[in-house]
Amino acid sequence: MTCKECQQMIPDYMNNYLKPKELKRFINHVHTCSQCYEELETYVIVSLATQVFDENADVSYDIKDLLEKDLNEKENQLRKRKRRVILLLIFILVFLILDMILTIHWLNM
Ligand SMILES: [Zn+2]
Repeated sequence: MTCKECQQMIPDYMNNYLKPKELKRFINHVHTCSQCYEELETYVIVSLATQVFDENADVSYDIKDLLEKDLNEKENQLRKRKRRVILLLIFILVFLILDMILTIHWLNM
């Protein structure tokens, strides 16, 4: 992924619009590219500032911490999704084996 691509995806990342594959590539890039990380950080700051302004709240945020948490949370979601896919594949495999056994059994009758 190029920096340009990555930075174009930031608004979608902020709105949770990225598809799992895109999200994975995005997070990987942000983790390895300080330029895009800083760009993302700026977005988070602006977004938070807008929120605080809207809610008229007097809250100070640790931006880096917040961004790290957000990135980690999204990575966890990706990992959970991967686990679900593997589980589904195992189910299908078991089903196919059972089906095969039943067919063999039926043929022998
Ligand atoms: Zn980059």
